[in-house]
Amino acid sequence: MSRRGNSRSEMHAPGGPLSEQDAIRIMSGLASAFYVLDRNSDFIYMNEKAARLLGREGKDLAGRNAWAEFPYAVPAGLKEMYDRIRETGVAETKEIYYRPAGLWLQVDAQEIGDGRIAVLFHDISRYKQAETRLEMLAYRDNLTGLPNRSSAIELIKKSIGERKPFSIVLFDIDSFRQLNDLHGHQAGDRYILEIAERLKSLLEDGEVVTRIGADEFIFHTHRTDPEDLKQWIREMFRQTATSVRLNDHVSFSASASVGISRYPEDGTTTAELLSRADHAMHESKTKRGNCFQMFHDEMKKRLERRRVIEDDLFSGNFKEKGFTCVVQPQLDGKSGQLLGIETLSRWNHPELGPLPPSEFIPIAEESGKIRELTIHLLNLVLGEGKHWAEAYGSVPRIAVNVTSHLLDDKRFFGTIMRMLRKWDLPPDRFEIEITEWKEILCSDLVLSNLRKCRSKGISVAIDDFGTGFSGLSYLTNFPVDKIKIDRFFVSGIGMVSKSEAILKSIVSLAEGLDCELIAEGVETEAQRQFLLDIGCCGMQGYYYDAPLPPWRFEEKYLSAWQSD
Ligand code: C2E
Ligand code: CA
Ligand code: CA
Repeated sequence: MSRRGNSRSEMHAPGGPLSEQDAIRIMSGLASAFYVLDRNSDFIYMNEKAARLLGREGKDLAGRNAWAEFPYAVPAGLKEMYDRIRETGVAETKEIYYRPAGLWLQVDAQEIGDGRIAVLFHDISRYKQAETRLEMLAYRDNLTGLPNRSSAIELIKKSIGERKPFSIVLFDIDSFRQLNDLHGHQAGDRYILEIAERLKSLLEDGEVVTRIGADEFIFHTHRTDPEDLKQWIREMFRQTATSVRLNDHVSFSASASVGISRYPEDGTTTAELLSRADHAMHESKTKRGNCFQMFHDEMKKRLERRRVIEDDLFSGNFKEKGFTCVVQPQLDGKSGQLLGIETLSRWNHPELGPLPPSEFIPIAEESGKIRELTIHLLNLVLGEGKHWAEAYGSVPRIAVNVTSHLLDDKRFFGTIMRMLRKWDLPPDRFEIEITEWKEILCSDLVLSNLRKCRSKGISVAIDDFGTGFSGLSYLTNFPVDKIKIDRFFVSGIGMVSKSEAILKSIVSLAEGLDCELIAEGVETEAQRQFLLDIGCCGMQGYYYDAPLPPWRFEEKYLSAWQSD
């Protein structure tokens, strides 16, 4: 017999076809468990291994009905499967959990003629356990064993698919970070474990709590009635308000903040529902502890408005979108001499109307567009500066506001210098105003950018002085050129004696540091007089002029003065 000519029919040779007995003998020696049923599902044969797995004697079972002997196999789906195989003749495989033996089995069955079914099966419990462990890792939170964030997302997705109303309740513990900082992570873990247990006890049928962050939980509930939710959340607050014993000496209790979004009214996608619950939660965080907030129409409008603003910032088409700048003069209150101008952004939005900088500047910062916006503004105001220099032979010092984001960027100094060169503005005619002093002190990059600017003659002003950072020591090791006293103190003149006292001390501070001084928000003659009396001559405010379009400023201050 040629090996190469080996074919199916040759496998019988040389001893003739295998008898059934031969086949059964071979099968019984297999590592797999094996049995054969007749057309009525009575046992014809079972090998050793199968008998062992099923905990029975193989020979005792011969002639017995499989479903009578192993009734659990029916709900596990085997009867149905074998009947189908008899009908279709197609072999099938199935994984079943066989409860009496506590085993996961993989069952391969096929018809072998006359309605007889040959069944091979083996124990896959170890593999199943590994699978469950993996699933635990992917969908469970390690510490509490609660479902985790992925699980929460899956659950919300599934519920949306079912189109039944539900709510998601975002539960955020308020001062968890302090607990961790004060007593260590182990104490933090113990606290979360206990809180997780307490929160779990609040669940009714069909409700789920998941842990989605260190101190954040999401409840998924069928409750949508505000009153019902309110009662339920009160109970959550009660649970966290009762202190948790962390060790012999330390107990801890915290308040929490809750945000709720409901399907379908607040959103129809997982992302929408989650971000809206988050939004509502952040709003409740701004109140005192143990508050909750349902997402509402007003928030929806605010978010929509923010989205429009963000989209327009991303379009980068600042000019077309209505961005302009205005300038506000700074004057010497004694001589009336122009000291400089401050550039302020204006946005006359095509759909939303005029937007205050306090609305769009933070959005530009958060969406990473503040750099582009500031460059646009610099082009506008420095372009005017070039024109003024050419027309009048001199330019007032031009100040712009820069945020710590901008300063915390390697490109800052290079960009500023390039812009100044582009518009031929000498650096000593340029000033940057900074507010977030605290951030600035924390970053070496910011400090180095500021130092480089000053080395070129650009002046550095501290904006809103007196309101932000409280320490004054920084003034000794970081030389500044100018202090701008916040409007708050100026508005107190004649009314709040403490404001007046602070103003006086700022004036002597500026003298000591050899700093220029500007009072912001000067609106009245009385304020002007008081400031002059205490020795603060630099002024900016409505008393002189509100921020003006550059052409108006030119008309009023430059061409008029030239023709004087
Ligand atoms: P700021 O830098 O303190 O600017 C002064 C603000 O006070 C301006 O408000 C100005 O219009 C207003 N103001 C001036 N004089 C008076 C007065 O006599 N009375 C009163 N009540 N207010 C006066 P505005 O233009 O709404 O700007 C608000 C803030 O937005 C600015 O405060 C600044 O921090 C920021 N901002 C404006 N434009 C820009 C910009 O281009 N970039 C950056 N980063 N921030 C900007
Ligand atoms: Ca300013
Ligand atoms: Ca200011």
